[in-house]
Amino acid sequence: MNPIPSELLPEDHSRTTRLAPSPTGDLHLGNVRSLLLSWALARRLGWRIVLRHEDLDQERSDEGGCDAIEASLEWLGIDWDGPALRQSDDLEPYRAAMARLAAQRLVFASNLSRREIREAVGAPQGEGTVVFSASLRPKDPAAFRFDDQAGNYRLIVEPGPEAIRDELRGEREFDPSEEVGDMIVWTKTGRPSYQLAVVVDDDRQGVTDVIRGDDLLSSAARQQRLRRTLGMNGDLRWWHLPMVHDEHGRRLAKRDGDAGILALRDAGVSADRVVGLVAAWSGLIPEPCDLPASAVPDLVDESVMNTLVERESRTPCRFTQEDDRWLRNIRNIRNK
Ligand code: GLU
Repeated sequence: MNPIPSELLPEDHSRTTRLAPSPTGDLHLGNVRSLLLSWALARRLGWRIVLRHEDLDQERSDEGGCDAIEASLEWLGIDWDGPALRQSDDLEPYRAAMARLAAQRLVFASNLSRREIREAVGAPQGEGTVVFSASLRPKDPAAFRFDDQAGNYRLIVEPGPEAIRDELRGEREFDPSEEVGDMIVWTKTGRPSYQLAVVVDDDRQGVTDVIRGDDLLSSAARQQRLRRTLGMNGDLRWWHLPMVHDEHGRRLAKRDGDAGILALRDAGVSADRVVGLVAAWSGLIPEPCDLPASAVPDLVDESVMNTLVERESRTPCRFTQEDDRWLRNIRNIRNK
């Protein structure tokens, strides 16, 4: 395998992508797959790569989690350009976005609970989904403001489709008013919601291309709506990758501690082995083998990504016991 020497890679600094992990636990192999492919495609095409720690959720974020993620990325051989951004370091940009929305009277304070919202609407809503309908907006015009920063605030979401352009899935349409209704943009923890923070940061970090797992596909439409509402320039290009599943067909999640990178590393598994497994899953190499991350940009392009999406829309990628045994074959690694 001959990786392309970095000085021969194209440079296209008109495009920027981001790695946006949440420090809510050890990265799992599904996270690694999305991060590795985003990084490799961007390095292949010469884009800038920024790192952003999405650490606004105080309850779920681990102390030292951002440092641990940076250490895991470095261990894997995934790098980034410029200093990393930690969302919790400075809330001012998010407050400024809220002030812009409030000046247009597009946000309102509402402390209705999920149960109250469900009950008020009457019609049954799907498991986990709570659609905040327009009928629940406050009648009092004074509620359309943003002052007390320790309350829930929602954005008025007008009905209508939002068409997103996904490089891997074509044009997809979602109506955020039907999916979530008036979305939460600020929370009672005194911090912005995930949706607001992502939109503000993608803009201020100059992101043009978002490559991430397809659990966030419908969020792309919400983010695009919010981006347009905030008057930000141009739509983003989206690349939503399929998720990795476990043996039982459930998406890998942080509950699956044994698929975590730190746990594997502690068990003596090498980074090249992890990269090699993820590369084989993604069809970059025929069989798992030890593979340095530096070799991956050479193996990735848009058609590989398209093939992966086509294949996995039929047969989702699974982390099997056989994969796990292959990863943990410590004697084999030491003999190499
Ligand atoms: N921080 C999110 C995660 O780790 C990703 C958010 C995004 O890519 O917009 O799942």
